[in-house]
Amino acid sequence: MTDFTRRKVLTGASLAAAGAVPAPAQAGALPSGKQAPSIYRYRIGSMELTAIYDGVWYRTIDDKFIRNANYTDVRQAMSDAFMPEEKLATPFTTLVVNTGTKLILLDTGTGGQVASTAGSFGENLVAAGIDPKAVDQIVISHFHPDHINGIKTKDNGLIFPNAEILVPNAEWAFWNDDANMRAAPDGLKAVFHNVRRIFADIARDVTRYEPGKIVAPGVETVAAPGHTPGHTVFAIQSGKDSMMVLSDTTQHPALFARNPDWQPQFDIDGAAAVTTRKKLLDRAAADRMLVTGYHFPFPACGHIVKTATGYEHVPLLWDISV
Ligand SMILES: [Zn+2]
Repeated sequence: MTDFTRRKVLTGASLAAAGAVPAPAQAGALPSGKQAPSIYRYRIGSMELTAIYDGVWYRTIDDKFIRNANYTDVRQAMSDAFMPEEKLATPFTTLVVNTGTKLILLDTGTGGQVASTAGSFGENLVAAGIDPKAVDQIVISHFHPDHINGIKTKDNGLIFPNAEILVPNAEWAFWNDDANMRAAPDGLKAVFHNVRRIFADIARDVTRYEPGKIVAPGVETVAAPGHTPGHTVFAIQSGKDSMMVLSDTTQHPALFARNPDWQPQFDIDGAAAVTTRKKLLDRAAADRMLVTGYHFPFPACGHIVKTATGYEHVPLLWDISV
């Protein structure tokens, strides 16, 4: 076994510099400076799923970010996950489900309107060979901007002209209620305005659903309240395979799978969100189900293991076959 100590590495480097060992070949190629298309395909039974990456937002956090945790513990959790202690990486991954008869898009990305480091959904969709005109249904989990803004271009055009748009009825009721908007803290008012911007002129064409609705054979909506009042997750099943699309039940797993009791500011009903999170993660762990989370590290897919203090996300191994 190689004893790869720092001293030996330094010695090796100085030998190379002195010409005692051959220097590595210099190809002289310029760095490309561009990431490869960020898509990942996998199967649930006969269905083909495509995870499409929209990018990441580095969210500044402070001592108010988790309502019920000591900030020292939060900083420690960030450090344990190799993140800067005050910048929470918040990736965005949408999912296209090809059921064989329908092309369904679950949530739509940021529309390039949330962070300068996000908004690659459109070009990655093209890289995946998916024509926006071919999308039959868009199913929305909840009304936060990073999930609905990709329905439209910045100048209000529909990106998926042939898609039926399905939204949770409880989300529609909550965010379109003017009394709720007036009562909301200032930071949340922009979310109410954004919901109106996206939906006001297409309201008649939007289909509202109740949890439990099966949007296509093998794709079922499941109530998961807490993060928002009508927050919804999706159970996908085909043949012997099944998967839970966790939406925002567990935001970044390094924080909220490991610390399932934490109540972040963005969960409207923190206690309900904790109950929902534990229920779904318990089920995923017990049934050894595949899960995907909208804010999990790309390709946002893997399994959940129960630990002594919470849960751990075990990422899927990248597979070149589909
Ligand atoms: Zn989100």
